[in-house]
Amino acid sequence: MKISFFGAAREVTGSCYLVEAGRNRILVDCGMFQGSAFSEAKNFQEFGFDPRAIDAVVVTHAHLDHVGRLPKLVKEKFKGRIYLTPPTAKIAHLVLDDAEQIMQDEWRREARPMLYSKDDVENVVRQFVPVDYDRTVRLPGVSFRFRDAGHIFGSSFIEITETGGPRAVFSGDLGNRNVPILKPTAQMANADAVIVESTYGNRLHEDESTRTTRLKEAVVKTVMQRGVLVIPAFAIERTQQLLYELNAMVNRAEIPPVDMFLDSPMAIAVTDVIKEYPRYYDAEALHHVSHGDDLFSFPGLTLCKTRDESKVINEISPPKVIIAGAGMMNGGRIQHHLVRYLGKPSTTVLIIGYQASGTLGRRLYSGEKTVDVLGERVHVKAKIVSIGAYSAHADQQKLVEWISAAPKPPERVFCTHGEEAAAAALASRVHEELGVRSDVPRFGETITV
Ligand SMILES: [Zn+2]
Repeated sequence: MKISFFGAAREVTGSCYLVEAGRNRILVDCGMFQGSAFSEAKNFQEFGFDPRAIDAVVVTHAHLDHVGRLPKLVKEKFKGRIYLTPPTAKIAHLVLDDAEQIMQDEWRREARPMLYSKDDVENVVRQFVPVDYDRTVRLPGVSFRFRDAGHIFGSSFIEITETGGPRAVFSGDLGNRNVPILKPTAQMANADAVIVESTYGNRLHEDESTRTTRLKEAVVKTVMQRGVLVIPAFAIERTQQLLYELNAMVNRAEIPPVDMFLDSPMAIAVTDVIKEYPRYYDAEALHHVSHGDDLFSFPGLTLCKTRDESKVINEISPPKVIIAGAGMMNGGRIQHHLVRYLGKPSTTVLIIGYQASGTLGRRLYSGEKTVDVLGERVHVKAKIVSIGAYSAHADQQKLVEWISAAPKPPERVFCTHGEEAAAAALASRVHEELGVRSDVPRFGETITV
């Protein structure tokens, strides 16, 4: 089995690996490069392989950095099947449509080139073949199965086995501990090679039990100061997790009544998909829905789908809580709220997700005091607070535990999907603790398992 790395090599985004096994050339993910202008330019470059020669694609999950170049792949004549879990299929469709919409806006505003069209997205969706977790799919000389990664709804890691030969496990993105709604990350089978993400390969998250306490504090403080709490949230998972926890706080009267707005059509649509698949819920969430609770809705919460509904938020006087996308603040409705409220000391921006280098979110997170948003220079007076425990990704400890819990240690580990320092830190810890050879592959590198 040969594995080549065509993305997420020494960087976080652009996941794309080519597996040659049996008589098949299988692509694991086909994600978009995101972050800086330099990263985004890479989406327009050649893949590094011929899309027509790919037999099938397997998709770990619906995040744009894992599915965002699928329409380009199809546009460049990939004709095979795209395997993914049923919720991933639905969410990926929303994600690709949303990305196409953003590209259209940018094309109109700044004449930026479009990577693909709406037709390309529709063609991708036609090639989707939904497959549930733990079912083995057999192709000539090779088989694979999706396992629950616990990262976002429908997310998986993938075990690919060459018939009578080696097995490689692709972690996709692995989830944090005790994430509401999601089941915990499954245990992988024995593998010869593990390709593991390392987004937080050099970091440990704070204890997740502090997560809700700190969210509660942020809401209570905002109400007391009659301020605005702005929460940039990824439309998938983080938003639903927030709603789930806020719902619980409201039910238990742990926070004072306050107007809350979910200003994200994408997040609203994703929430509807999640409601369709209770069989993917953990025991607690399943218990709540079976007792008739709506996990994502509570008094005080307004869902803003249209632009007009979004504009109404401005007219409501503080205190208020605004949850909006994009999660890294580099686009979407969050920017309108940031322009309005970043310059006010009574504002709190609550960062609850990974902020890639080059994004507005990363600049705020790093403490920059002057930023440009929607062409306006804004002097930041708001408090920028982050809760690391909200991360959708496993930290170093969990990544190492996940690999070491396999019945037999893998022969080799490859750390991808992390900035260079993070990937290197994880590789050296895996080597020290498990005595397994661990490498950080480069873009275009091919290894033989
Ligand atoms: Zn992800």
